Amino acid sequence: MQPYTGRFAPSPTGALHAGSLVAALASWLDARAHRGRWLVRIEDVDRPRCVGGAQALILQQLAQCALVSDAPVLLQSQRAPLYRQALEQLLQRGCAYYCRCSRRAIELTLLRLGRGTQRHAEQVYPGTCRNAGLAGGSRPLACRLSVGAASIQPPAGCAGELLGLAGPAQTPELVWQDRWLGVQRQDVECAVGDFVLQRADGCYSYQLAVVVDDAAQGVSHVVRGADLADNTARQVLLQRALGLATPQYLHTPLVLGADGEKLSKQNGARALDCSDPLPVLRQAAQVLGLDPAGDTLAAWLSAATAQWALRFTIRPA
Ligand code: GLU
Repeated sequence: MQPYTGRFAPSPTGALHAGSLVAALASWLDARAHRGRWLVRIEDVDRPRCVGGAQALILQQLAQCALVSDAPVLLQSQRAPLYRQALEQLLQRGCAYYCRCSRRAIELTLLRLGRGTQRHAEQVYPGTCRNAGLAGGSRPLACRLSVGAASIQPPAGCAGELLGLAGPAQTPELVWQDRWLGVQRQDVECAVGDFVLQRADGCYSYQLAVVVDDAAQGVSHVVRGADLADNTARQVLLQRALGLATPQYLHTPLVLGADGEKLSKQNGARALDCSDPLPVLRQAAQVLGLDPAGDTLAAWLSAATAQWALRFTIRPA
């Protein structure tokens, strides 16, 4: 069996808040419960969204909670050549193509097709440039994964908890087992369409960077917040297109703000004061249904690991 490697991968868009600490703690507990490695990766691939000082603050907050990466912290901003290489591979295999559509052009096409979207709803890309044969080069073009590409195959005997594909090849509905949420399914073609791997401004997408890095770091188990659950199918398709292994996934419950929405800076998420870590960790553990005893940080973390292990230890494949 592949040795357990887990990770916490925050975007440095602000300090850790009550919601992000839940994901950090859960991923750390899962790694410890499996006697595996736990890595921290700073997802600063989307430079314009990053906030100065956030990275240092997040690492300090984690350290105050004794959640420390088992390997040097990796920064996505330094890994562009790897993302480029993956993109080239996808282009060569016919799984990706260049696209010149602006958001506005997509909106107009969708309207014309009678598939207009609500404000802020995800635009399902109508495939306009899929067969246009545009070449990359001097023009700034986005690049998309062709989700229906014939060369995206499920691996023989589908690895891990993945149940496989249902439905005809051209509208693949992915079905997989989430360790917290249970059976999940998504037809990527219907839900999002061909999605962006690199934006026209040159920025590599979260989907591409996360898949390349999880594989490069040997991540066997992804533990993260439920707000990211609906990215999983896209990431599985990308793994298949690149011939990479699929990790096991667990999505933790979200902490909601006063407005019932996922906690974020917009609805009042405050930066956590981790100088006294036990109260904030207890709160995070509660969201995970854990209530460990322990008066020192070390004792509490060890009790929390034991409780987590009872619920989530590995079942042999
Ligand atoms: N960087 C993402 C975030 O902070 C998390 C990515 C992941 O865990 O896959 O929301």
